[in-house]
Parts: sequence; C-alpha cells; structure tokens
Amino acid sequence: MSRVSVVSGSEGRFPKSLLEFQRRFATESACAEYLFERRWPEGFVCPGCGEGRAWLLKTKAFTYECADCGRQTSVTAGTIMHASKLPLTIWFWAAFLMATHSNGISALQLQSQLSLGSYQTAWMLAAKLRRAMVNPEREPLSGVVEADETIIRFRTKNDPVVVPAGRSGVGKMLVAGAVEIDGSKPRRARLKVIEGFGKPELHAFVLDAVAPQTQLITDDWPSYRDLPGVRHNAITLGPMAAHIALPWIHRLFSNLKRWGLGVYHGLRKINLQHYLDEFVFRFNRRRTRHAAFDTLLGIGTRTTPIPYRVLIRKAA
Ligand SMILES: [Zn+2]
Repeated sequence: MSRVSVVSGSEGRFPKSLLEFQRRFATESACAEYLFERRWPEGFVCPGCGEGRAWLLKTKAFTYECADCGRQTSVTAGTIMHASKLPLTIWFWAAFLMATHSNGISALQLQSQLSLGSYQTAWMLAAKLRRAMVNPEREPLSGVVEADETIIRFRTKNDPVVVPAGRSGVGKMLVAGAVEIDGSKPRRARLKVIEGFGKPELHAFVLDAVAPQTQLITDDWPSYRDLPGVRHNAITLGPMAAHIALPWIHRLFSNLKRWGLGVYHGLRKINLQHYLDEFVFRFNRRRTRHAAFDTLLGIGTRTTPIPYRVLIRKAA
C-alpha cells in the first residue's frame, strides 16, 4: 500500500480540443486522478468518518482504504462509471464526445468512434450518459420566457421518416417548449412531450417550467389564458408571423427537428422525452462544456447508477 498524497484543489484547464483531451486522459490513472481531484479538491475525506488519512489499495483499482475506520472508497463511487467493466478512458471519451458534439452522438457513432466491440455496449454507454442529462433539481425558467407548442413526427419500426399527410395523430407527437430570454439572447430552454394542446396540458407544462411572476410570451392560443401566478403577454398573430413574435422558441423547435433527423434519422416515440432532455441539456450547456462533461459522468452529483436491465425495461 502507498500513502495518498494531498492533491491540490486546482482543477486545471479543461481540454478544448480532441488532441488536448487525448493527451490529458490517455491512461486509466490520468482519468482516476481527475476523478480524485473533482471529488476531493482539498485532499481525501473518508465518507464514513470524515478523516483524511487513507491508503491506495493495490488489489482494487483506484480504491482508498480509510486509515481510521477501514472503509474502502472508490474514486468512481457515486458516478455512473461505478462497477462498470469498461475502462475509465472509454467513459471519459464517450462523455467528452457527447458533451462537445453540438449535434450529439448516436450509439452507432460511439461504437465506431471508440472501436467498441459490440453495439450493445455502445448503446448502454449512450443510454447511461443520456440518463444523466435530466437534472431534477434544476431551477425553473424566469424573467421573460417565450412558450409555444409544436408537432414532431416520429418513426415507428417500419415507418418511413416522413409520415404521409392526412394521418393526423398517427406518427406525430405533441411537444411543448419554453425559452428564457435574457435581453436579446436565449438562455435556458425546456421541452416536454404532452398529450394535447388543451388548457390542462399547457398550463401544467408552463407552471412546471417557469417560476411565479415570469413574464410569459405566447401566441393567442386560448389554452395559455388564465395562467395563475404568471404575467402573460398573449400576442395575436397571423399564421405566418409566429417566427417573428416568438423567434427563440421557433428557432429551438426547428433546431430540434433538424437534430432529430440528422442524428437519429428521425426521432422515435420510445424515449422521446429522453431525446428532448438530451437536446435541452446540450442547449442549456452550450457555453459550459466542462460542466456538461462532469454532469454526464455523474461527477459531483448524486446520479444513481442504473443497471442495464432497468434501461432495457424502460426502453421497451
Ligand atoms: Zn473513515
């Protein structure tokens, strides 16, 4: 056993390019060192007794044994990498690609980019990272918020990407969206699959997505009327003018549709909400890729590891 050295709290600059990333996280121990620094910036602290003296075990990878109480703690404990058979370098690469690709990355792309042996492994990796994209403690949108609703076409197993006209309700899903506006720029967004465009669905969406006293901008669709606790500016528009009065939510919707076609060759009904969450995650963190990377790996959050069979069950 060797003594744990006190690691400085400095996090270092996060890699901005593939080359920088490859150099920094080339080995298992480089990844483990990053995890250690993020977890214990002031040096090791035992989660059992709070003491700071520990030994690095030789028999278990990147696991420390408390010198006071004997508890063993892995650097991956509490992250989505815990108890995984995949190397840390693969997890790091997958999270980096997911966090930095502006369009996201599919399981198939992950498989080929990371030379993974099986599609199942790539799918599990992508599914676990995607699970981390929903933050239950996120703050509601506030200030000035644009809200609107749209229809997204989806693919079933045998459907072509484009659903024939006239099949209303078949192969289409209803999505509500909201974007927070800061001056002339969008900040954060929300997207949710809804069952209908009626008052109950849209009120529930808005009241969940925005803080009280938010100034909400919508078109004059009656379902947005009488929202309790929300200041509401309904704008009456001709059918062609919505993109002018509600520019950001319309841009978000069109980016979402383009993304769905480009990355997944058409979104599918199964797990559509997860794909919306992925899109919003990337949108909300488009300027903080480092935070996105950490969140995806479950570093510094309490993301509970999800077993493969649970993911399968949810996908079915
Ligand atoms: Zn201890």
